[in-house]
Amino acid sequence: MIATLQQTAANRAVRRREAAEIGRYRRRAGRALDTTLIEAGAPLDGHAHVDIFRKAVGEVYRRPSSVKCIICGCAFSSEQPFGAFLFSCGADRPTMASASAICVACWHDAPFCEIELAAVRILRRIVPNGVFDPAGGS
Ligand SMILES: [Zn+2]
Repeated sequence: MIATLQQTAANRAVRRREAAEIGRYRRRAGRALDTTLIEAGAPLDGHAHVDIFRKAVGEVYRRPSSVKCIICGCAFSSEQPFGAFLFSCGADRPTMASASAICVACWHDAPFCEIELAAVRILRRIVPNGVFDPAGGS
């Protein structure tokens, strides 16, 4: 019972920390995002936001056990490696980026529509009711 109460408090602290991080990111990102979905290990060289995307993915690699697959919810480890990353940054003020992760199994087996729905769900935490605009808003 004590372990359960401690776990509940820990989960609440994690959710509070995530909400605070999302709030900070939302304020800095603005109302439009530049997004990129890229296979793990693929080079980011030449991407317009290479520096902030590298910094964001570095954070993910530094604490993989605190990251969950945006599709199946699995935690990452050496046995459950990253398959792909969904990057986002503010379209108008790209000073910081976020990186969400997809596990290898989901990246290889999930239908693209499922990956896209998961991406929309994640990105709408930052831009409520946002939609993908292949033209980049122009
Ligand atoms: Zn997964």
